Amino acid sequence: MEVKKTHYDVLGLEPFSEASAIRKKYRELALLHHPDKSQSSEEFLPIQDSYTYLRDHKEEYDRDLRNDMLAAYSVEQEADEIDDYDITVEDSIQFVTFECTQCCSEISKETNPSSLYNCDICSKFYIIK
Ligand SMILES: [Zn+2]
Repeated sequence: MEVKKTHYDVLGLEPFSEASAIRKKYRELALLHHPDKSQSSEEFLPIQDSYTYLRDHKEEYDRDLRNDMLAAYSVEQEADEIDDYDITVEDSIQFVTFECTQCCSEISKETNPSSLYNCDICSKFYIIK
């Protein structure tokens, strides 16, 4: 399952790192990427953005991140793996089609990088490997 890069990833930190650890890491990276020392100020911009965001919004960001991680985890736990499916292409959009094992309705969805699909009728989640 594809996971979006978090602000912690950008800074090379573990999720939910302490504010003091974030400041320390940011200072290290700032020295490393300082425009006077290298040509990589472009690389430094996302680091600066992530640092500023965490500095100002850490509490709500951590709460949202924790919820996202829990949601992704529980969906994967409940998803059934599907082996029997068809892939079709319409107007250069790829669709996956299979039968819902729970309510027997046909599920036809545009493919996505997470490979997770839910039934519109009964909301059951499936994962296509
Ligand atoms: Zn269903």
